Amino acid sequence: MGMKKSIKKCLFKISSGYTDLLYRRPYLDKEAKLRRSLEGELLHLDLVITECCSLKCRDCSNLMQYYQKPENLTSDEVINELKKLFSCLRVRELKVLGGEPFVNQKVLSDVLRFLTGDYSGYVDSINIITNGTILPSEDCLEAMISNPKAKVSFSNYGELSNRQDEFVELCKKNNIDYQVTDDSFYWLDFGRPIEYNESEDFVRRQYKYCYNRKNCNTLYRGRIYACPRQAHGIRLGLIPDSKDEFVDLFDPGYTDKDDLRRAIIGLVRRKEPVSACRYCLNCKYIHIKRGIQEKR
Ligand code: SF4
Repeated sequence: MGMKKSIKKCLFKISSGYTDLLYRRPYLDKEAKLRRSLEGELLHLDLVITECCSLKCRDCSNLMQYYQKPENLTSDEVINELKKLFSCLRVRELKVLGGEPFVNQKVLSDVLRFLTGDYSGYVDSINIITNGTILPSEDCLEAMISNPKAKVSFSNYGELSNRQDEFVELCKKNNIDYQVTDDSFYWLDFGRPIEYNESEDFVRRQYKYCYNRKNCNTLYRGRIYACPRQAHGIRLGLIPDSKDEFVDLFDPGYTDKDDLRRAIIGLVRRKEPVSACRYCLNCKYIHIKRGIQEKR
């Protein structure tokens, strides 16, 4: 274990809240200025390709455990959404996730191939976020190899990530960029998706310092949301569907590409919390054991 990780673990035993503040420093928003100045680019975007997951984490902050009948999205749906988005904006970092994206390998492969062709200039990097429980098929491996911008990020849930080592070997052997997150021994508890009776001040502060609204704006089923929790909470009917708090890419109300682009940039720079923040407790800095599994 590295020095930094050991210190972090010791501090964590004393105070998880201070450790989080010291290491995560949520009050620092290094990209704020850049986010405010970019008119034609998004810094980060999460692309959801499936609601299915190979794990069932009790405390998944994205609410995947609440899907009774999770579905894979289709290649047509996802690629149409990307084409619509790229008609007005490009993306620096595109994160591909689910659920678990390797549950839906056909769509993952199609997206990677789509982003090697005419549309390759619309993203700078592609980050595939996996829990390390599923190996890629030959076809999917080929698609990853063929896209030099693709990188695999292993969330590393210890013993639960039971195919991670084999997958890492595959990456090494095939020259695929990868990283293994090694500091996720705890999670922040975002709470169950129920309306909390927190003060207006708390909700505003929570949104202002939220990592997700800065780094995880989400493209899901044709809409861009502030964060994945909002996206899935609305889809599941657990969080109010407030029309002015997301951008529907296919809304005919956007008169042209510029109009759509302004709406998306407006959402990314939004200062007011979204309703979902009243159904979230991430700013309480309650830490919990990662990856506790629910019965299926
Ligand atoms: S609901 Fe609000 S506070 Fe919670 S993760 Fe999303 S943007 Fe952040």
